[in-house]
Amino acid sequence: MANKTKPTNEMKLIFPALSLNEGFARTAVSSFVGLLDPRMDELIDIKTAVSEAVTNCIVHAYRDTTGDIELTVRVYADRTVYIKIKDRGCGIEDIGQAMEPLFTTHPEEERSGLGFSVMESFCDEIKVTSKPGSGTTVTLRKKLRTKL
Ligand code: ATP
Ligand code: MG
Repeated sequence: MANKTKPTNEMKLIFPALSLNEGFARTAVSSFVGLLDPRMDELIDIKTAVSEAVTNCIVHAYRDTTGDIELTVRVYADRTVYIKIKDRGCGIEDIGQAMEPLFTTHPEEERSGLGFSVMESFCDEIKVTSKPGSGTTVTLRKKLRTKL
């Protein structure tokens, strides 16, 4: 996952975990990655994956509290994009189980347990680190195709 070279561009945003900021996060990432003139389908994939990760911070991480979401986007010369979504919320006890398709801790809220599966299928790689009580960091990697 790690990229040792220097990014050609990067940005960081910190905003409260409010549901109205889910759309803001998606639009902000789309606008930043849009500077690389990506294909529309790639941009849609990225927006969808970011929405899932940010929504998880809002509905799960800060379920009983409030807090901030830290969003970092780095782009590299080879058109690889790294997006990091970090919260300091409740954390995840069992990451392997959380990432299983259809696993949700909140079926009663009509969650389908597909957020991580969507992130996985719309990106090239996903890395999740978490510590119960301290928070969770999700990093998404996607390489944009070369423009013709
Ligand atoms: P859906 O995304 O389909 O609405 P979901 O959010 O339950 O449902 P996933 O996004 O795949 O499904 O997440 C699986 C589970 O992982 C969640 O039910 C939740 O328990 C846990 N989880 C995910 N992200 C976080 C987070 N940032 N902090 C704490 N728990 C999380
Ligand atoms: Mg989810």
